[in-house]
Amino acid sequence: MELLIDGKRISQEIKDELRERMAELKAQGAERCLAVIQVGNDPASSVYVRNKKKACEYVGVDSLSYELPAETAEEELLALIRELNGRPDVNGILVQLPLPRHINEERVLLAIAPEKDVDGFHPVNVGNLSIGRPGYVSCTPAGVIQLLKRSGIEIEGKECVVLGRSNIVGKPMAMLLLRENGTVTICHSRTQNLKEITRRADILVAAVGKPKFVDGDFIKDGAVVIDVGIHRNAEGKLCGDVDFASVAPKAYAVTPVPGGVGPMTIAMLMANCVNGIEE
Ligand code: NAP
Repeated sequence: MELLIDGKRISQEIKDELRERMAELKAQGAERCLAVIQVGNDPASSVYVRNKKKACEYVGVDSLSYELPAETAEEELLALIRELNGRPDVNGILVQLPLPRHINEERVLLAIAPEKDVDGFHPVNVGNLSIGRPGYVSCTPAGVIQLLKRSGIEIEGKECVVLGRSNIVGKPMAMLLLRENGTVTICHSRTQNLKEITRRADILVAAVGKPKFVDGDFIKDGAVVIDVGIHRNAEGKLCGDVDFASVAPKAYAVTPVPGGVGPMTIAMLMANCVNGIEE
């Protein structure tokens, strides 16, 4: 491996640029405000919410925090979203997932005004990405593009294989690589001859949700391997969808877990909050 892609450094670089941009905006009298809604007290969600609020503070984005009890009725949550949709001082609305089972996630995400949907999950934003119109883009795949670009890795004309087709990672990832003029293949659980396809990849993005699924046998020599997976083993140690030890000797570049894609998600959320939808 020639290059260990350092997501911690790159995410810090992005947050520092955003902090400067935010200071300029404030000097012109503009503010940004993100409303973060958490329903229930899932410990992992609480950590994510805390980190998002910390990032807001660092960058200079105001944040409003709504911590609702787990038994909150769906209608109550929808009413709060409608209120925030109507508030001119709120630019972004984020509902931390997962939601308690009695709340319909799709109805909630649909209720967020597309122009405040900084997570990029609303069908209008997903549709805009597919047809090449400006809109908010899902933060994790947007972060992967930044990792590639800021590591000097060209996407145009390259064979890009995305392993996984979820709505929040795999599909928007494929669309973004296509937007960058990559030649994109999407693989999933029904794909046949998986390794034959992944071995064609100049850039392989693993978002399969299975610890250490991608080993050295999946890649060709000199590939760039991006690991979106996050898993915690029995000892509490983090690992990804990629078996780093067997992939690193063959690859040109790899992202580590932790310290690769993970820190990029919040950096890109901050970029969405500060920059808004760029026409
Ligand atoms: P997901 O919804 O579980 O999707 C996994 C995808 O992998 C599905 O499309 C599935 O195919 C495919 N898949 C499963 N087994 C496969 C197999 N044996 N061969 C080929 N494809 C297979 O997961 P996700 O939400 O996209 O997340 C993926 C990983 O990224 C997880 O580890 C998650 O924790 C992590 N993640 C990280 C961040 C971050 O900030 N770094 C953000 C989001 C997610 P089917 O569609 O056919 O079922």
